[in-house]
Amino acid sequence: MPTYESDVCIIGAGVVSAMLAERLVELRPGLAITVVEAGSSLFDVPARMEARQRALDYGENAWPGDFLDDQVSGSEGLVGFTMAVGGLGLRWGGACNRFSEEDLRLKSQYGLAMDWPIEWAELEKYYCQAERRLNVFGEPSPYPEDKRSEPYPVPALALSYNLQTLKSWAEKSGIRFSALPMAHNLRPFGGRGACCLFDTCGQVCPTGARYSPDYTFRQLLAQKKITLHDRTLIRRLVVGDDKPVVVAAHAVHRDKPEQAVEYRARTFVVASGYTWSSHLLLLSSSSRYPNGVANSSGLVGCYMNGHKFISGQATADLELYPGQNMSYSLISREFFRCPPDRPFVRHDTRIWENPGRGPRLRDDSGRLQLGDEVIADWRARAKRATIRLRAYYDVHTDKESRLTLHPTARNKYGDPLPKITHRLDAASEAREAATRAHIVSVFERLAKADNGKLVSTGEGGYLDHPAGGCRMGTDPATSVCDGYGRTHDHENLFVVGAPTLPTAGCTNGTLTFAALTLRSAEQIAGDQRRS
Ligand SMILES: Cc1cc2nc3c(=O)[nH]c(=O)nc-3n(C[C@H](O)[C@H](O)[C@H](O)COP(=O)(O)OP(=O)(O)OC[C@H]3O[C@@H](n4cnc5c(N)ncnc54)[C@H](O)[C@@H]3O)c2cc1C
Repeated sequence: MPTYESDVCIIGAGVVSAMLAERLVELRPGLAITVVEAGSSLFDVPARMEARQRALDYGENAWPGDFLDDQVSGSEGLVGFTMAVGGLGLRWGGACNRFSEEDLRLKSQYGLAMDWPIEWAELEKYYCQAERRLNVFGEPSPYPEDKRSEPYPVPALALSYNLQTLKSWAEKSGIRFSALPMAHNLRPFGGRGACCLFDTCGQVCPTGARYSPDYTFRQLLAQKKITLHDRTLIRRLVVGDDKPVVVAAHAVHRDKPEQAVEYRARTFVVASGYTWSSHLLLLSSSSRYPNGVANSSGLVGCYMNGHKFISGQATADLELYPGQNMSYSLISREFFRCPPDRPFVRHDTRIWENPGRGPRLRDDSGRLQLGDEVIADWRARAKRATIRLRAYYDVHTDKESRLTLHPTARNKYGDPLPKITHRLDAASEAREAATRAHIVSVFERLAKADNGKLVSTGEGGYLDHPAGGCRMGTDPATSVCDGYGRTHDHENLFVVGAPTLPTAGCTNGTLTFAALTLRSAEQIAGDQRRS
């Protein structure tokens, strides 16, 4: 069987893997790092523009070849579908909000869920580092609790006319808003282009302005700093007979399925996202580890989490001209904090211009409009604006909120596929109605100004920014890994990013996954120095 040796073997090539590989190279030049990714390298930058156009014209997948049919079909629940070099980071919108100190102290402040094994001041340093690497733009929050030790690397993109109008409207409620921080280049940076307002950030960014991990990997490869094995699925981690350390990872290359491949390394890092990290640990069972690797607590795959959300549509007597960078929005952090003596509710609040009501060449009767008529028609229709609102809110999950191995569904190599079932804990269930009522009242408060009206609300049917499954903690009986992602059971095995989160906050998670991973990188590099 072909065997590849390295100092560090990283499994998965998404955002957190890119952050980790880049940081390890800086900390320990010369380290032999192998990144193994199940999906393909979709490095074809010129094709991005064409893929975008086809996605817009025909609704085609903007990233052809980015998912492995036999891994995803048959899996159950909210499974991470993008498997390629870049992972879900090929498609993310780039919103980069920080969590808040409360997320780390839910147990001690509110008697809920658990505390994270890390101090806020410590995490904040790594937020700064992650923001620098992702080249996040943003503006200081108006809330003093959001104090930062460093300014944003790039000042915020100026608000469009629409967002300026919406900010003045929303702030009449007394709730303060800022520009959404985003990992979008306003000038070329990191080998990627600048934002040209293509406005398809959540699908494909043709210039690479929105941070995309494939660029980081391409650069590390060009500089010969890492080895990348794509189209190679790690199927099992193997623990040695003498000591509880992981000695190998067994894999299959998708183009040569008949031949097993072995990876040997001093340190293994599972950077496989919220679905496939727990899945791999569970798949790695053996007679000595019947419940899988790193699972003496029995908690691998448990406490899968994320946040719930409520959306709304409001109308108001504002003139908006939709289509001015629809991905950009306003955020308020007013409700990130909840006084401990009040019913618990925490959420972010986002406001966007709403699609529709753009300029048009034909009027309602189908008559062609030309020249000034187009503008006059647009102005007339833009008199009363529709506004999009959303709140991600903090919920906590039960131990039985779980990723398990599917009892019947298998991939083409015969390995059981994952099944994810999210379940809220009793306290979160009990406060659902009150949380909903609170958020709707916030939307109504916002919608009051300028003859505004909240016209509809709707609840998301899934947990967004999913995480969990290998939660971190100080006690090996109640967590899978420590605050650095080092598994309690195997000192040379780390899990990084989303799976390690005990709880998923009330705003986008990727910046937090990246910050925690950068902190892990120092431990991983430190281990290499010692061994
Ligand atoms: C449409 C969309 C918009 C989003 N927008 C935002 C946003 O604005 N802000 C935000 O914070 N988040 C956003 N997200 C979420 C964000 O994309 C993810 O949190 C982030 O990309 C996760 O990165 P990751 O590296 O942890 O995992 P992943 O991206 O899942 O990467 C894991 C990689 O590991 C590989 N892998 C898995 N198992 C194995 C194995 N056994 N062997 C080899 N390789 C393996 C996978 O193929 C995959 O490529 C969005 C997501 C989507 C889908």
